[in-house]
Amino acid sequence: MNSIDEKLQPILSTVLHRNAGEKEFHQAVHEVLESLGRVVSKHPEYADEALIERICEPERQIIFRVPWIDDRGDVQINRGFRVQFNSALGPYKGGIRFHPSVNVGIIKFLGFEQTFKNALTGLPIGGGKGGSDFNPRGRSDREIMRFCQSFMTELHRHIGEYIDVPAGDIGVGGREIGYMFGMYKRLTNRYEAGVLTGKGLSFGGSRARKEATGFGSSYFVQRMLETRGNSFEGKRCVVSGSGNVAIYAMEKILSFGGIVVACSDSDGYIVDENGIDLDLVKEIKEVRRERISEYARLKGAGTHYIKGGSIWDVACDVAMPSATQNELTGSDATTLVKNGVIAVGEGANMPCTPEAVRIFRDAGVLFAPGKAANAGGVATSALEMQQNASRDSWSFEKTEQRLAVIMHNIHDTCAETAEEYGAPGDYVLGANVAGFVRVAEAMRAMGV
Ligand code: GLU
Repeated sequence: MNSIDEKLQPILSTVLHRNAGEKEFHQAVHEVLESLGRVVSKHPEYADEALIERICEPERQIIFRVPWIDDRGDVQINRGFRVQFNSALGPYKGGIRFHPSVNVGIIKFLGFEQTFKNALTGLPIGGGKGGSDFNPRGRSDREIMRFCQSFMTELHRHIGEYIDVPAGDIGVGGREIGYMFGMYKRLTNRYEAGVLTGKGLSFGGSRARKEATGFGSSYFVQRMLETRGNSFEGKRCVVSGSGNVAIYAMEKILSFGGIVVACSDSDGYIVDENGIDLDLVKEIKEVRRERISEYARLKGAGTHYIKGGSIWDVACDVAMPSATQNELTGSDATTLVKNGVIAVGEGANMPCTPEAVRIFRDAGVLFAPGKAANAGGVATSALEMQQNASRDSWSFEKTEQRLAVIMHNIHDTCAETAEEYGAPGDYVLGANVAGFVRVAEAMRAMGV
């Protein structure tokens, strides 16, 4: 890891001590503090009033029991979380993740990242994140419904359109949001559309929300490539994952003239040298809810499926890690650099390890950090909140147009901030500093 300014060392020690064992949270805080040395040298006022320490401490952390009954009639218990990290800029905003790896440290890291990401959108949303260690894999639709209802039975008392507005994340899509919204409505007797985002179109959802994170990350990378007189046109791309983010990142890459040759799920990856058939991926993942290995089985010649292994062994010009945290390691980065990668865009949250990021930086690879590159999803959630507040429903074109402008603005803000702080081309520094300054300004104005 890079070094941290000595003035910030005590803050890091406090965070490590207070949050013992939460390694992903430590990693996320470390990465932001690395960038803030330049801020406190230039603007010492930001070190006053324990502002940086306050930013690293969530405003509220809620942990709850989620009991539910499976299809066999057995009682199951999971743990639910909501970390309300920072409300300086607006109501807490961030997704809910259902995955067996979920614990308080993971939710805290995601909530911390979300705070800066949401600030970068320029929209009035604070940062939060939630989830459960529930594993939806192999569960029936009825089990998913009962789990979501139980989860909301506790969560509803902590959220609201002016308080905290959850959305989806890994394991939580339109179906789960629908069940949670239905339960919130029953429990509160309020049709409060703005309490959740990522809703279905028939009950207050926004067009282009499903596509937004993936589209947004490709918009960001396209703009980043343009700074070097380049573009996606004719580029060979690898996108890890095959969820919402990956699917729509691929769709936008294709529309920009790129060629996607590989994608994956947590069991393995597929390579199709003719270019991934996106309609087939959508059919497998969105309709049939099957594993990506089905692709090779159905497609046959010219494609292959590798169980396990690393998708980053597939040579490419542009890599878009869009699955989960720390999925791209230092040795993956070395392989990608050796194979000539020119740009990396994080579609997921913190998918590259700190060592991988360092390797890309040292090799002069364009690198877009997740908190900037994947902000399109939450930005479009904020657009959904706008539509709900004004009882309106925008066209796909209008919503996507707004998304494109927001992504370009985020890109330019990061690039200009990096320049201003003496690190041109360093999008990690640009994103951390620009996001931090917006939150810190609001916090200072509101007092301790
Ligand atoms: N889970 C997404 C993220 O990581 C979206 C959150 C939201 O729309 O509130 O940013």
